[in-house]
Amino acid sequence: MNRAATVQLGSGAPLVRDSAERERIDNVRPANWRNPAPAPHYDLVIVGAGTAGLVAAQAAASRGAKIALVERHLLGGTCLNTGCVPSKALLRTSRLYAEMRHADRYGACIPGDVRVDFPAVMRRVRGVRARISRADSVRQLTAAGIALFFGQARFTRADALEVEGATLHFGKALIATGARPDTPAIPGLAQAGYLTNENAFDLTRPPRRLLVIGGGPLGCEMAQAFCRLGVQTTIVQKRPLFLPREERDAAQILSDSFARDGIEVRLNTRVLNVHVDGGAKLVDLVSDDYHSTVVVDAILTGTGRLPNTTGLDLEAAGVDADPQHGVQVDDFLRTRNRRIYAAGDVCLDHKFNDTAQASALIVVENALFGGRRRLSELTIPWCTYTDPEIAHVGLYARQARERNIPVKTFTIPLHDVDRAIADDEEVGFVKISVRERTDRILGATIVARHAGEMISEMTLAIVAGVGLRMVARVIHAYPTQAEAIRKAADAYVRTRALSYGQRRSTAWLRWLRR
Ligand SMILES: Cc1cc2nc3c(=O)[nH]c(=O)nc-3n(C[C@H](O)[C@H](O)[C@H](O)COP(=O)(O)OP(=O)(O)OC[C@H]3O[C@@H](n4cnc5c(N)ncnc54)[C@H](O)[C@@H]3O)c2cc1C
Repeated sequence: MNRAATVQLGSGAPLVRDSAERERIDNVRPANWRNPAPAPHYDLVIVGAGTAGLVAAQAAASRGAKIALVERHLLGGTCLNTGCVPSKALLRTSRLYAEMRHADRYGACIPGDVRVDFPAVMRRVRGVRARISRADSVRQLTAAGIALFFGQARFTRADALEVEGATLHFGKALIATGARPDTPAIPGLAQAGYLTNENAFDLTRPPRRLLVIGGGPLGCEMAQAFCRLGVQTTIVQKRPLFLPREERDAAQILSDSFARDGIEVRLNTRVLNVHVDGGAKLVDLVSDDYHSTVVVDAILTGTGRLPNTTGLDLEAAGVDADPQHGVQVDDFLRTRNRRIYAAGDVCLDHKFNDTAQASALIVVENALFGGRRRLSELTIPWCTYTDPEIAHVGLYARQARERNIPVKTFTIPLHDVDRAIADDEEVGFVKISVRERTDRILGATIVARHAGEMISEMTLAIVAGVGLRMVARVIHAYPTQAEAIRKAADAYVRTRALSYGQRRSTAWLRWLRR
């Protein structure tokens, strides 16, 4: 086993130095790297080598374009280093611990208490991150003919930028600088110290008591993960429910699941201030008029993300941006400077990995190959990877009604699905909305253990224009939880068949009475 040491890397948080971390850093920011001499001109210069930047670079290079990619910190950006990858690896292990604690439900017996080996959990997270970093490595990019520059990019003109003293001239540029944690302005928080996604995955010892601020996807995932890893966890959410964007019944299932896990849930609650007493952090809360204090060892904030626009000298390039919403783009992802585009978290409301990828591909098509692809044409699914997962695509029924679209909804609870019963995963549902009197799918919400996998069927149906009647005719392997989708489609078909049957009966009776 490797002894852990700590090293400060660039502007990032301290990292544990074990073989996995060495492999990752060697892949995404090798110590002996030297920037190449710049070419006189690039077809596309990309700022930021997170998901959007990497996808754009690889797609454009594979079609023969001359590409320069600039990264100030680590290749792979948020998703690989501090976001999707480590959080999903952590959630997987935390789910296993939760299952072990309830092994008796499955007729299994675990002798003694389940003991969490936190250092081993985090070692696994680092191992997963290292393995996945191979795909985002310096070697992969240079092999694809991409000129890679490490350093902070700064625009100097409408068609040039500077990095580490080198000037890169471009025909087109892509700003893909992502986003960073939006830390709430709470008196005393900075002095007390806090975790964000940028340093939480570098923990080698768990806090005994943790307060998570924020009940969006990030806060919910982290609260459940840490609680299941034996950390006494409280979650504070300003609003009256978690995941405010989701349907109420989905958010309620999550609240119930948190309660079962033993997370202390404080909805409708604001953090007033934080102060330190000895080694503990005392956090004052208010809920309506009720004041209380929780005592914890660590605080993790998950209260949203702010686009990275500072330090780019966007004015020099004629690009508009604002600190809250990021780089301003039109539906073709062009900025005010027609040479410069943006993609991913730096310009989009939907801050997801899949959206970053899709928007990057739009930019490559539009900027380099005369495309006219629009952001508004995308159908974007998303998922919160709690247990159960909550996934959604398309319109919510309430959004359809707000737009005066007549909507009919079909819901199948998972306790009616054989596989969910067999798996003891009966909490959840599949809800599909169609335009009334048609089988056109407007949207779907799925709450299930693997909702993130199941939502793809609905996304495909919406993108391909496949109606719910056709979904009902698709044979779903038995037994699967995805059968809930077919059952919802069956429910639709039954309502249509009924009304057809009713029409025939009425006509028949009318004929008899002649
Ligand atoms: C904890 C967490 C979990 C998440 N889980 C999921 C999930 O499960 N599914 C999902 O779809 N999404 C998830 N996301 C969101 C997802 O990670 C982001 O949407 C995605 O990484 C955005 O990619 P991007 O390329 O736009 O930005 P980033 O990945 O942030 O990349 C931007 C890059 O630009 C670099 N940069 C910034 N400024 C400059 C500059 N001036 N010069 C040079 N380089 C610069 C940065 O160093 C960074 O590497 C999660 C996010 C977090 C925080």
